[in-house]
Amino acid sequence: MSSLLGRKGTKVTNILLPEYDYIVVGAGSAGAVVAARLSEDAGSSILLLEAGGDDYGDKMVAVPLMYGALQRTHRDWMLSVEPQKHALKAFKGNRNYYPRGKMLGGSSNLNAMIYVRGCRLDFDRWAELGCEGWSYEDVLPYFLKSEAFVDINNGDSIVEKDYHNTRGPQEVTRFSPSSLSRVFRSAGEELGYKTVDYNGREMIGVSPSFTNVTKNGLRASTSRAFLRPAMDRPNLHISIHSHVEKVLIEGSRAVGVLVKKDGREVTVRCRKEVVICAGAIMSPQILLLSGIGPRQHLDEAKIPVLKELPVGENLQDHLFVPVTSPVTSTDLLARSTLLNPLNILKYLWSGGGWLRVSPITELAFFRLGSATPPGMPDIQFHVVPSAQEKGVRDRTEKMFDYKDEIFTDYLASGAKIFGSRQGFSISVTLLHPKSTGTVRLNVVDPKGPPLVDPNFLARQEDVDIFVKGIREAQRFLDTKAMKAIGAESRNIERAYKPILWQHAYDSDGYYGEYVRHFAHNVYHPTSTCKMGAIDDPTTVVDSQLRVKGFSNLRVADASVIPEVISGNTNAACVMIGEKAADLIRGIDSVRQFRKPLFSKL
Ligand SMILES: Cc1cc2nc3c(=O)[nH]c(=O)nc-3n(C[C@H](O)[C@H](O)[C@H](O)COP(=O)(O)OP(=O)(O)OC[C@H]3O[C@@H](n4cnc5c(N)ncnc54)[C@H](O)[C@@H]3O)c2cc1C
Repeated sequence: MSSLLGRKGTKVTNILLPEYDYIVVGAGSAGAVVAARLSEDAGSSILLLEAGGDDYGDKMVAVPLMYGALQRTHRDWMLSVEPQKHALKAFKGNRNYYPRGKMLGGSSNLNAMIYVRGCRLDFDRWAELGCEGWSYEDVLPYFLKSEAFVDINNGDSIVEKDYHNTRGPQEVTRFSPSSLSRVFRSAGEELGYKTVDYNGREMIGVSPSFTNVTKNGLRASTSRAFLRPAMDRPNLHISIHSHVEKVLIEGSRAVGVLVKKDGREVTVRCRKEVVICAGAIMSPQILLLSGIGPRQHLDEAKIPVLKELPVGENLQDHLFVPVTSPVTSTDLLARSTLLNPLNILKYLWSGGGWLRVSPITELAFFRLGSATPPGMPDIQFHVVPSAQEKGVRDRTEKMFDYKDEIFTDYLASGAKIFGSRQGFSISVTLLHPKSTGTVRLNVVDPKGPPLVDPNFLARQEDVDIFVKGIREAQRFLDTKAMKAIGAESRNIERAYKPILWQHAYDSDGYYGEYVRHFAHNVYHPTSTCKMGAIDDPTTVVDSQLRVKGFSNLRVADASVIPEVISGNTNAACVMIGEKAADLIRGIDSVRQFRKPLFSKL
């Protein structure tokens, strides 16, 4: 095999050989893991194709607090959702911007780094739905395999040690920089919620965020954790700026892929398997372009049908809506904190301080309705301790593309409420939406950006749970602990009155309308190539992640998740990558994580 061409510190190739054993499409949260693990077999040759560029040396990506500056840049696919009928009413065109990572590491390099595995009952439900081998007991060892928990707090009492591994490749740390963390926990305790390790035995309760940030304060993306250590292997070729257009299929076998690289179309063949890891939006696009999907849609796009499957159906995503409050604390994230030279020096010296944090410092999980089984949350809080400073607020809110009249009112009322006070927001997140949507080709330009229609809030039950979540956030803000720092629970009125005036202020109808206007997507799309029982007509891949009807074509990423999990989706994608590699290699690499743990569960 030819040697890899590269520059110092990174090794991407400009040469594509005509044939490899395995072709992995997409180097994101799951794909980077699949390629790195497959390359552990020195006898196999692997090509990893990534449409975006290299992340090596990109400091904006590496420094956690630069999170907000990455979107709408070359690192992002820069998609939008289609106009929504039932939601996003406050946003221009009733649409939302929809960032997806486009570089080595994929969305693990664009995301907010929150490390949440999901609820054990999520995975037991996957097994019930026909995903054999994906119950909690089956998948926990894979979560553990990838994790390197580093206790930077020296004896962190929140962490349940049995549920963490300290020796995997991807670092997980926990760091709470502001006094809000303590106050938030006290507020939870006043309401009877425990402080939990949400990746441990139970999920419901409050908890500081665990993050994929290294002990040195760098983003622990899958490219940093998995790809870079594997790059020296001569059997792994990583090709960037390589956009896969379709899978080449002969009969029931994938024989290669058609790639656009540097403006040229190149065919690369595979001897063993093609593994699609392009994420919940692009994996369905590649399958559809290959002729695998709903017949009527493929006919409209004039693509010959090779196999009729519900590719691109069943899109699920989380939505959140902010509940903001002013507070008198002064140690929240403010522009002055960020620009403070001492803070910058602290980070450069030790990787400590505010620059190392995810913008979401606290989480909480609740079961407020009855649609999920006891123990499985339906609402999550993302707590963002950022100061509501004028200027910063204007800029952040501009990014959301509010309709002009709303934007003006919103800013004016924000200025009135916060004045010179600091503030924070509780982003109330709907975990198990009943509404599902689609990813479709744009039939006039099938290779262009796909059409993403999440059909947000089509079902009234979704709004009803959301309103319960807002009420819970108000209860938090009304606790003694919160009042002591000047929190106020009824600021949702802000400028929304002109739109919502037909409902009595503070009524459920009022907040329902607030949700339909201001709830925003959280960027956790899943389930567009749903995994499950082979005879279930809603599934695209079987429990071995094989596209139904094809012997050597798999999908391994967020798109196979049968139902979106109770939390942020990155860790689950890494787990899927780990398990996919074992399924492909025909090995059980996690035996050591299984035995000691399950005797204690
Ligand atoms: C802004 C943002 C914030 C988020 N915050 C969090 C968080 O804090 N915690 C959390 O758990 N989750 C978070 N998520 C979600 C999480 O990051 C994703 O669920 C996860 O990264 C998805 O992994 P994936 O492997 O399915 O896809 P991705 O990681 O998106 O990987 C897909 C890869 O395939 C490449 N690709 C796509 N099409 C092609 C093609 N045709 N040819 C070649 N390559 C292609 C892409 O460029 C990309 O590198 C966030 C996501 C976003 C966008």
